[in-house]
Amino acid sequence: MKPLSSLTLPLLTACTLVCATTTSCRQESSLPPVATSEGVDSSNIAALNNIETQSISSYKGWDFGKEAYLHTQNILDFGVRPIESEGHKKTQDYITKKLEKCGWSVMRQSFTTSTPYGERTFTNLIARHKDATTTPNVVLSAHYDAKQLDNFLAADDAASCVAAILEIGENLPKHDQELAKQMELVFFDGEEALKPNIVYLKDGLYGSIYYSQYLRNDVNGPKKLYANKPAFGILLDMIGHNNLSVKIPIDTPYSLLKTYLDVVAKHDLQDRFGIAKGSILDDHYPMNEIAGLPTIDIIGDFSSKDWWHTTDDNLSNISQNSLNVSIQVALEIMNAQLLKK
Ligand SMILES: [Zn+2]
Repeated sequence: MKPLSSLTLPLLTACTLVCATTTSCRQESSLPPVATSEGVDSSNIAALNNIETQSISSYKGWDFGKEAYLHTQNILDFGVRPIESEGHKKTQDYITKKLEKCGWSVMRQSFTTSTPYGERTFTNLIARHKDATTTPNVVLSAHYDAKQLDNFLAADDAASCVAAILEIGENLPKHDQELAKQMELVFFDGEEALKPNIVYLKDGLYGSIYYSQYLRNDVNGPKKLYANKPAFGILLDMIGHNNLSVKIPIDTPYSLLKTYLDVVAKHDLQDRFGIAKGSILDDHYPMNEIAGLPTIDIIGDFSSKDWWHTTDDNLSNISQNSLNVSIQVALEIMNAQLLKK
């Protein structure tokens, strides 16, 4: 593990385990997800997912998590999806078709770059609502590639997050067209390192680095896709696992950190949504550092999960109720942050 010289904080990477201890104690909570000493009881999804009992989001009649769970299942059915695999290609097609069906235009941002194994081609998918009239203001993102490991389906890393964005893409235009029109949905390729560990600017984060460079250059130059820099970004990574535990990077841009803490406190979700002890090297990092786009990484506490980067990260690792809560928290952060503008 190689910390970045510019960082004084301990550095975790989504692909290199550095800090493996957590000391937070779980507490009972009457709000979803229902916490027990064993964590979320995902066998009780149907009851917990009754929208009438949820009090997080102001969007009514949206069965949060339901479609995301089905999308996760469908993506896993394509098999493993490291770059250049059949499953990877099928996932691209799936994302594109699902979004185009509900009013989004999907652009392919393909590029070739050097990797430890020579030149490779990657493709980010970027979606905007067809009725959008302005440059995007909010970037919601996740990575769709999976690490190349035998039989590794990467259910929560990050098929579930792609699935959550698809659910938002399908439902948000019906509930809040003004917000949908301000959004850019981004599906990063090549988050995972081809070698075991992410090494910044050398291996891993390929898609987010390219996207961030493009955005920075475009805003400062031709303005082909971005008339202005969006206000902020939200990255989702590992937000659908059983016994949900999210820990965002400690160096999250202050305004977003404050919004996150306010939303979490307002809905009494402190036992599920916390802060990691260090910085995390994930796709939000180039968005902050290269594009200068303040971005929060809503990321599961991978350092404490024994299923992370193993074949146990399969569909049985995914809880519809965890997706339900994470999606609502992401939407709440989005709306609260926009009010600060
Ligand atoms: Zn990973």
